[in-house]
Amino acid sequence: MRKIIETTTAPRGHWVGDGFPVRSLFSHMSGKSETTPFLMLDYGGPYHFEPAARPRGVDVHPHKGFETVTIVYDGEVEHGDSTGRGGVIREGDVQWMTAGDGILHKEFHSQDFTKSGGTFEMVQLWVNLPAKDKSAPAGYQSITDAAIPSVDLADGAGKLRVIAGNYEGAKGPANAFTPLDVWDIRLNAGKVVTLTPPEGWNVMVVVLSGKVSVNAEAKLEGPAVARLARKGGGVVIEAEEDAKVLILSGEPIDEPIAAYGPFVMNSEAEIRQAITDFNSGKFGRL
Ligand code: MN
Repeated sequence: MRKIIETTTAPRGHWVGDGFPVRSLFSHMSGKSETTPFLMLDYGGPYHFEPAARPRGVDVHPHKGFETVTIVYDGEVEHGDSTGRGGVIREGDVQWMTAGDGILHKEFHSQDFTKSGGTFEMVQLWVNLPAKDKSAPAGYQSITDAAIPSVDLADGAGKLRVIAGNYEGAKGPANAFTPLDVWDIRLNAGKVVTLTPPEGWNVMVVVLSGKVSVNAEAKLEGPAVARLARKGGGVVIEAEEDAKVLILSGEPIDEPIAAYGPFVMNSEAEIRQAITDFNSGKFGRL
């Protein structure tokens, strides 16, 4: 079994705009890049919003050099971007957005959710792009819950949704630039699942809620993350109580990271260029 390198719990949260109360479960902004190809994971909510007249969220802002993945568990997010695309991301849906060579977008609660209020729960994950793809054209994959394969785990242990990559022959609908798996697991109390990520890949067990043990070594109570060694075999997760778990595993992108807010490049010179390009309108219009 793989060794656990580190376990972390969620620090105090912060607000992204006025719509997203998040806790960063890991972040490249810490100056570390051991989670590569994943840069950052913000867990939003669960949080109860009262009905409102005007949608809460984040107005137009840029991204460049990576991908943002929005997974909605409860509530609704409405998105619009400078490629002309947009839509509502509902419970179970996923949006996989390639910022690539530069995109402008806005993220708000949907009109319906704003009117009704209710519980809001989501994840936003940032996935790095390799240097050769940092200038890929901006793009947007809208993935509905129905398009995501859901695999029943053995022994009634729960279910696993394949958002990206593969699990036992089921292929996830998201197209990523580098080899990776993003699996959304509901594990039932008292049950066990054994996963076998490829040797050489980074693996993180992200516990959003519930209590689990990982490789009989670490006990995690959500929200918390276990980061495992790149090699050494499988990962055994046992639920002490019903748990909501995201498995992130991927081939490392071992390249330098230079980051400034919503821009993630390989060098300071590229960051300066990204800021210049953004200021001169090269990210398009929204
Ligand atoms: Mn954004």
